[in-house]
Amino acid sequence: MSSVTVRVPAKVNVQLSVGPLRDDGYHDLVNVFHAVSVFDEVIAKESESISVRVEGESADQVPVDDGNLAIQAARALAKHAGRTYGVELVIRKAIPVAGGMAGGSADAAGTLVACNELWGLGLPREDLMEIAADLGSDVPFSLLGGTAVGTGRGEQLAELLTGGRFHWVFAIADGGLSTARVYAECDRLRAALGEVVAWPQASDALLAALKAGDARALGAELANDLQPAALMLRASLARTLEAGRELGALGAIVSGSGPTCAFLAADEDQARELAVALVGAGVCRTAVPAHGPVEGASIV
Ligand code: ATP
Repeated sequence: MSSVTVRVPAKVNVQLSVGPLRDDGYHDLVNVFHAVSVFDEVIAKESESISVRVEGESADQVPVDDGNLAIQAARALAKHAGRTYGVELVIRKAIPVAGGMAGGSADAAGTLVACNELWGLGLPREDLMEIAADLGSDVPFSLLGGTAVGTGRGEQLAELLTGGRFHWVFAIADGGLSTARVYAECDRLRAALGEVVAWPQASDALLAALKAGDARALGAELANDLQPAALMLRASLARTLEAGRELGALGAIVSGSGPTCAFLAADEDQARELAVALVGAGVCRTAVPAHGPVEGASIV
């Protein structure tokens, strides 16, 4: 085999509850992940050494050295297999960079699946999940896809069957937000307000809405503890969220650490109209209709 192409989805957190800061600098999370039809493509080609090239919008903002999560994934897989392997990776980016939709994690997951195939390793998904968890807390979900409840740092996953397809619009902002900065701002805000931070728990009403495929109920239950911090760092997002609500979205939320905003629509037509209206209102750079859940990293 000389080339393998893998398609891997972005995620939105329909619930992101951030617990108290732990001694190791992480937070315990309850993270309800939902994979959506905004896809990066990872193409793995035979090569002597490990390298990466990034194509698409905002490609210039993605490192092509060892800072690229895809390179780290290829190295981790080669190490696990106990041999020196090479691969030329090409990433076709559609997931916004530093957008709160786990684009880097998606590319890492895509690389694990692509190189497992290219190198003929035949490792089972469980092995790839273990390597993924070491690469970053969102990487295992990018492999799994669908909808899942993540606990711990987000890497312990329980799959959740949903009762149907949900329709979304993602309003993409100019520039990204650093995930680490948003968590730090969340801690700062909580300290400044003297908040007592509760142990995070999955919302029963949210899980019931997902299971029932009830978009209206899900829209009312969307929750993201990082949202106040993202709004502090990027005040214009408040206007984006408000515009979506006024235009009839069933729910509006900052996606993960932002700055992408996610809007839930009643159906595909409403999602398409909402995307056009959000761009027309001048509250985002672009808006992308999508649906979820979709499968995780898969060979095409
Ligand atoms: P998350 O939602 O997991 O917090 P994000 O979607 O906000 O992440 P990413 O797009 O994953 O953010 O990128 C965060 C940073 O990681 C980028 O600014 C970039 O410097 C670096 N990075 C490393 N590898 C990649 C990659 N393959 N694609 C995008 N960014 C990458």
